[in-house]
Amino acid sequence: MTANETTDQLSAPKGTIQHSLACRFCKAPLSYTFVDLGMSPLCESFLSAAQINQMEAFFPLHVQVCATCFLVQLPEYVAPSDIFTEYAYFSSYSDSWVAHAKRYAEMAQARFGLTRSSLVVELASNDGYLLQHFVHAHIPVLGIEPAANVAAAAVEKNIPTLVRFFGVDSARDLVSQGKRADVLIGNNVLAQVPDINDFVGGMKILLAPHGVITVEFPHLMRLIEGNQFDTIYHEHFSYFSFLTTQRIFAAHGLHVFDVEELSTHGGSLRVYARHVEDTSQPESPRVAALSTREESAGYTRLETYRSFDERVKETKRRILDFLIAAKRQGKSIVGYGAPGKGNTLLNYCGIRCDFLDYTVDRNPYKHGKFLPGTHIPVFAPTRSRRRARISSSSYPGT
Ligand SMILES: [Zn+2]
Repeated sequence: MTANETTDQLSAPKGTIQHSLACRFCKAPLSYTFVDLGMSPLCESFLSAAQINQMEAFFPLHVQVCATCFLVQLPEYVAPSDIFTEYAYFSSYSDSWVAHAKRYAEMAQARFGLTRSSLVVELASNDGYLLQHFVHAHIPVLGIEPAANVAAAAVEKNIPTLVRFFGVDSARDLVSQGKRADVLIGNNVLAQVPDINDFVGGMKILLAPHGVITVEFPHLMRLIEGNQFDTIYHEHFSYFSFLTTQRIFAAHGLHVFDVEELSTHGGSLRVYARHVEDTSQPESPRVAALSTREESAGYTRLETYRSFDERVKETKRRILDFLIAAKRQGKSIVGYGAPGKGNTLLNYCGIRCDFLDYTVDRNPYKHGKFLPGTHIPVFAPTRSRRRARISSSSYPGT
């Protein structure tokens, strides 16, 4: 059954959207598979004990690649309003991510000369894990966060936060209130917006004339090279190469003038952009260097993308070989961490309590709950210290 038939023939649950057949950036028709991971539930929809006896919604995880602009993308099977308005992910539960945010805030203050009259705006500001560092330095901030429950945690920390999805409309509203961003931050949000042109178009509007945009997102080249198919999930609509990112920004009058490669989330890029007409920021040689590396690695050729699917299938066979061998030796297997993205791997490979007894996570929101689809129970980390034998591979970055 194709994705189209799924939505046409079954009565679609609330929030289901018709499978889009056009590239979300350049609108060319989509007809090539990048990887098909079958059917999966939403990776952050952890279940209560009562819910595991109920019906559960599964959606296709069929990722495609645009043959024109090479944007790797998942059609919008589920509306963002169903995914992001009540969200289980609080950034502050990850020590490594909070430390990463602190280093970023120190770098941005020094490099862009931020003062008490600057404005730092973060899109998808979560619980204020990043903006708090600017607040401590007395630099004015504004968070924009669609998930009301995590935004409330930011407001409690005295971080001004607007509960809203970001795009052209919200950017115009803010500009009409006299707000323009000197630094406009989007960390791990670009991949999560279904209408990329509305989002980047909004950034163009909200950016002050000499303002700087920085966005971080997982680098597609690292996903492919590292075979990180487990970082694909419904909330991630787009997977970017550096070349495609520059193309998207350029289409909205924004010029990429620097890029850094980071180790976060299995290998990310931090891309710096400014208005095309603003020449106050010099262009780093890193822009040309990474563009050339991607070109020579084949990121402007369709075959590079289309060969990924078979590698993923072989990885599934090898993981199952390992788990079956361990069980045959009488071992018990438990997980460490219950990040949303772990659920792609577990559902794609069909790993349930037949292989994995349970997993643990530091986020108390998840304790006593069950993983979506596989129904593996989640406990507090103290449990695994007593009886762990083999730990499943941990997932970076969350
Ligand atoms: Zn395209």
